[in-house]
Amino acid sequence: MFTHNGKIYLFANWKMYLDYDESNILANALARGAKKFGDKIQMAIFPSALSLYPVGQVLRDVGIGVGAQNVYWVDKGGYTGEVSAAMYRAVGCEYTLIGHSERRHQFGETDHDVREKMKAALASGLTPVLCVGETEQQRNTGKTEEVVEVQLRAAFDGLNWPKDKELIVAYEPVWAIGAGVACDPDEAMRMHELIIKICKNLIKNSDPVVLYGGSVRPNNVVGYLSQPAIDGVLVGAASTKLDEWLEIISAAQEL
Ligand code: PEP
Repeated sequence: MFTHNGKIYLFANWKMYLDYDESNILANALARGAKKFGDKIQMAIFPSALSLYPVGQVLRDVGIGVGAQNVYWVDKGGYTGEVSAAMYRAVGCEYTLIGHSERRHQFGETDHDVREKMKAALASGLTPVLCVGETEQQRNTGKTEEVVEVQLRAAFDGLNWPKDKELIVAYEPVWAIGAGVACDPDEAMRMHELIIKICKNLIKNSDPVVLYGGSVRPNNVVGYLSQPAIDGVLVGAASTKLDEWLEIISAAQEL
């Protein structure tokens, strides 16, 4: 078996796919099935900010975590439209995505912003799930490793990693996200090994958990989870459809 501490991480990024009612319906369906998921599955759902509280209330008692899709780094103040890491933590949130490629590429989030968000997440008690990955152009010009290393160095720069805090990175090649074109599992595996090596150098004594994300579907998830350096998956579109998500969970359980 190839799991991290005996766990397979199945993280679901619902992005802005589901409205309030749809989020609650899906969360309730997951809660009803949760007993069958078993101890091996470490699941977390990242709903929209609007749905996070009620979804968290439903999932908390059945051992499924919830996370924010994005945070702001100042605790409180005149920052219209933002929600701080501390505010998410205060309503029971455990995780936050940081540096998702849609934030970086559609909303202009910089490495500096990512670093501030990492710091704020740790300070508030959230576990960051740092997303890194190269664009198609960067890949085509042989810059994948360099881009990912720069993103990791910037994100962890000068951070004091709390001893008991999991270090979670999601390798999400930008060209594979939402595209239906998934990364070859061997290629993902090589990147995961590199990410683990870099993280161990940056954060001494860390034991990085590295998830793969990008067009994961029921028919390809086993290919990723079978790789020794892939601890789990971060899934977008397929996690918003109950039947596909349940198929992904079953595939993971059978490993
Ligand atoms: C994501 O956005 O994190 C993601 C992996 O999306 P998808 O699974 O839809 O490619």
